[in-house]
Amino acid sequence: MLPRHRSWGTGGILSTVAATAETPKTFYLETFGCQMNVHDSERVAGTLMAHGYTPVETMQEAGLILFNTCSIRDKAAQKVFDRLANFKALKKQGKTFGVLGCVAQQEGDAIFKRAPHVSLVAGSASYARLPELIAQLEAGEPRVTGLSEAPEAAFETEFTRRDHPYRAYVTIIEGCDKHCAYCVVPYTRGGERSRASASVLAEVASLVAMGYTEVQLLGQNVNSYRDPSPAQLNFAELLAAVGEVRGLKRVRYTTSHPRDFTPEIVRAMGANPVLCDHVHLPVQSGSDRVLERMRRGYSRDQYLKIIADIHACPRPLAITTDIIVGFPGETDADFEQTAEMMHAVRYSGAFIFKYSPRPHTEAGAWGAGADDIPDAVKTERLMILQRRQQELQLEDNQAWVGRTLEVMVEAYHPKLDQWAGRSSSNRVVNFSSPLPAPVAALPTLAILGQPAPAPPPLPRGGLGRVLEPGAYVQVHIDKAGPNSFVGQHLDGRGPQLGWAELPAYAHSGSGPHSPKPELR
Ligand code: SF4
Repeated sequence: MLPRHRSWGTGGILSTVAATAETPKTFYLETFGCQMNVHDSERVAGTLMAHGYTPVETMQEAGLILFNTCSIRDKAAQKVFDRLANFKALKKQGKTFGVLGCVAQQEGDAIFKRAPHVSLVAGSASYARLPELIAQLEAGEPRVTGLSEAPEAAFETEFTRRDHPYRAYVTIIEGCDKHCAYCVVPYTRGGERSRASASVLAEVASLVAMGYTEVQLLGQNVNSYRDPSPAQLNFAELLAAVGEVRGLKRVRYTTSHPRDFTPEIVRAMGANPVLCDHVHLPVQSGSDRVLERMRRGYSRDQYLKIIADIHACPRPLAITTDIIVGFPGETDADFEQTAEMMHAVRYSGAFIFKYSPRPHTEAGAWGAGADDIPDAVKTERLMILQRRQQELQLEDNQAWVGRTLEVMVEAYHPKLDQWAGRSSSNRVVNFSSPLPAPVAALPTLAILGQPAPAPPPLPRGGLGRVLEPGAYVQVHIDKAGPNSFVGQHLDGRGPQLGWAELPAYAHSGSGPHSPKPELR
């Protein structure tokens, strides 16, 4: 998963957390890490707002300053301490600092020593107790901790402040039982806990009633889902049931683990186009020797068999992945097998990271000498894979030129007079449209890590129909780069080619499949 960092809020009134009737309670929340963290932040924000807090845009405006943290890599954890150090002077203005999430769970009370201006440390397994922890802070407790060793239930709350106006996240399983040798998640997020299927389906139905057309089912290993209720649905059955909720146009899910990825999931996707044309399936390495040392629980051949199953789906599905380079003991030959894997699968996207030892993990306990791949070699391997992946993406994306994709509109860039959105396969499409943007302010969207631009001053087309974020449009693809497409909104004009009418794919790969055009 691409690590990212996001902050949000609205309005702004200066106050401290120990608020009175005259001083409104305000908070600023900054999020690091994966979609699980982004959604956790939505739930934390919703809980705070239900308890009288108002979100604000800057730390200067806030009484309570929270960092929802990620510790999956050393760099991500260090960034949080850098942010805390940069803003510690604000403590003198009476502001209260809190550290939430994986760094909180991993470091615990040690955070108070490293950053003495912090007053709250709470891991994700303790968010259900957030109102109680906040009450302790408000009562003047200088140091409050919420660190659960044994989380029992998934964090459910009716109070969720949704960050995205058209795509809603729905957690179906939390934690992880897999214990990969390099990963701190089972420690920071606890063991796997699935939500009852009825609770998931009720939340999806309520989101549709609120106007959402796309939901993303979330879990550290989303396909390890096991319904704890008498219905006993497995992941494929739950996915199929969510896809049947009336009014939904798109269902995504992330992240899948190859060990639990069954042909039944592919069959469910093939049977219902509402289930998006995309699977994120981390491979981590293409070498059996490294996969074994990583404790991933599958071999290279088993992974490729799953890829073959995915490509046997009647509807073409895009596949993305995560890769770690420089895992202890990774030889040049191991690395070359990972590079070959990229060519064999032809991923539509890959998040590639350098290994760093993490506390509490099996590989971290191998000792300092075990991290034996020099950083320069890790960097070189990272760059080689990134370059090859970009070349593969460019080559494959070129085959989309001249075709039509359905795009959910997400943002408008007034300077370029261009819209942006995503296809069902999660590809980014920038496009022009004969329809004007609405006069009213567009929703604030962070697309591709960029803040949303200001809305256009006036519509080009005068009164009448407008194009708005959240709409689904047909876009003819004119150009393809490695990471995105450029096209034109057809709006009823021009040819809309089905994939049977498209030019044949030219492919240099020797993989187990021939990529097929997207059926839209
Ligand atoms: S499956 Fe492995 S990498 Fe993924 S969260 Fe669990 S331990 Fe970490």
